[in-house]
Amino acid sequence: MSNSTKYVFVTGGVTSSLGKGIIAASLAKLLQARGYSTTIQKLDPYINIDPGTLNPYEHGECYVTDDGAETDLDLGHYERFLNVPTSQANNITTGRIYQSVIEKERRGDYLGKTVQVIPHITDEIKERIQLVAKHGKYDIVITEIGGTVGDIESLPYVEAVRQMLWEFENDCIVVHLTLIPYLSAAGELKTKPTQHSVKQLLELGVQPDILCCRTEHELELGLRQKIAKFCNVSVNAVIEARDASSIYDVPLLMHNEELDNVVLDKLGLSKKSKPNLDNWKSFLERLKNPKHEVTIGLVGKYVELKDSYKSISEAFIHAGVSNETKVHLKWIHSEELTPANIAEELANLDGILVAPGFGSRGIEGKIEAVRHARENNIPFLGICLGMQCAVIEFARNVLNLGDAHSTEMSEKTSAPVISMMEEQKKISNMGGTMRLGAYQCELKPKSNASLAYNANKISERHRHRYEFNNDYLSAYEGAGMTATGKNPDSGLVEIVEIPTHPWFVGVQFHPEYKSTVAQPHPIFVAFVKAALNNKK
Ligand code: GLN
Repeated sequence: MSNSTKYVFVTGGVTSSLGKGIIAASLAKLLQARGYSTTIQKLDPYINIDPGTLNPYEHGECYVTDDGAETDLDLGHYERFLNVPTSQANNITTGRIYQSVIEKERRGDYLGKTVQVIPHITDEIKERIQLVAKHGKYDIVITEIGGTVGDIESLPYVEAVRQMLWEFENDCIVVHLTLIPYLSAAGELKTKPTQHSVKQLLELGVQPDILCCRTEHELELGLRQKIAKFCNVSVNAVIEARDASSIYDVPLLMHNEELDNVVLDKLGLSKKSKPNLDNWKSFLERLKNPKHEVTIGLVGKYVELKDSYKSISEAFIHAGVSNETKVHLKWIHSEELTPANIAEELANLDGILVAPGFGSRGIEGKIEAVRHARENNIPFLGICLGMQCAVIEFARNVLNLGDAHSTEMSEKTSAPVISMMEEQKKISNMGGTMRLGAYQCELKPKSNASLAYNANKISERHRHRYEFNNDYLSAYEGAGMTATGKNPDSGLVEIVEIPTHPWFVGVQFHPEYKSTVAQPHPIFVAFVKAALNNKK
């Protein structure tokens, strides 16, 4: 069977957390820089339909696409590296696969057949892999299989890969990411876990074409030859994946190892010209040679697990580069902030960000952090719940509405300045039912937002159920907090600012999802700039 799209499957062995997402994104970047339209897809072996119902402690941040899909945080890396939006088709879970097969069974689509893992679940997986190719007419689709080879959960995915290797034999390759641990007692790198992990893949009928070997030390030729011999791959297909100081180094490291050449050779694709990585290199150059530095406090309730705020911390890296500034993040647990310790905890910060979130835990600390930023003229950015906290704080301390709150935290508040959106009131299911994805927003001229974007209409991604209560808008505007961004259709307030403050911006949407290496997000760029000015 011939197929014009080429498929690269990325599997992982030995252990989790080897960074398959970064390797996949780096390879995609190199192929894109050689002129191939490339996309990345993540297959997650868990049974949740999507990570939207997962607590960030379970799985890190939930990333949201333009089309409103709640997805794995690796999709954020894909967008940040490739600067191309992803969609629902780029992230599939076992739950979604089964849901779709079961719906087909109920409709009678299987015509009385016994519905089984093979072929029905595997067919559904294969269909989803090919669907993403059709979706964007891509030359190359890189599909990352979540989990570690050998997990019960990932078996159907590996089986689907085996079948595709058979059906499209000239159009598919497998890159297996493994670990070469260093035993300090022996003073040696050890290849045995990699050999075992490749054996495990072979037992499932899959011969990897390329091995990317995570290692803390140089992988010398002798070791590469040994791995090649035991694992049936050519020596040039044993790729060293050394620990890097920044994830943004990885595309260049992979290029030095000629990963892109080996992949193109194996796929039978022309190597065309060398990849054009000039912009990427200049980004790295500026990243590594900052002229200034600022410290920004990130106030949140999941700060023990920094992956919960992945897109925010990456957006600060991009915005820092734009400002030739190293942004140090101070992670501040909102549950630990009280009026008594706030001045000490938030001392010496050049800017304060109050993070998105759900529920009551740590909410009073977040509101205190807003107050500190507002009263002390410290540049402030509130994102989603952070914006809502800014609205609540202003109501309590400026409008003198002492018990003002969001109805999410207090249904009985006498001043529901943040309240549930009308269309949310009839919804009872939790999964996939928030206001999700891209919506338009009109900006007020001369506001901080419109200066940052240099535009009067923008589109940003959302993930929330509650909104600014427009019944209070005139009270706010009379007292000095302005709505500078509104949805043109619904009138929902999307941005609030305090024009008399040096830089105080709260956004109902999530700017962090759209920040990329090629296009640092204007709101983050302006915030870092304000923090720099504040420092001076
Ligand atoms: N919990 C708030 C809401 O649902 C904010 C959500 C968020 O910060 N993403 O409106």
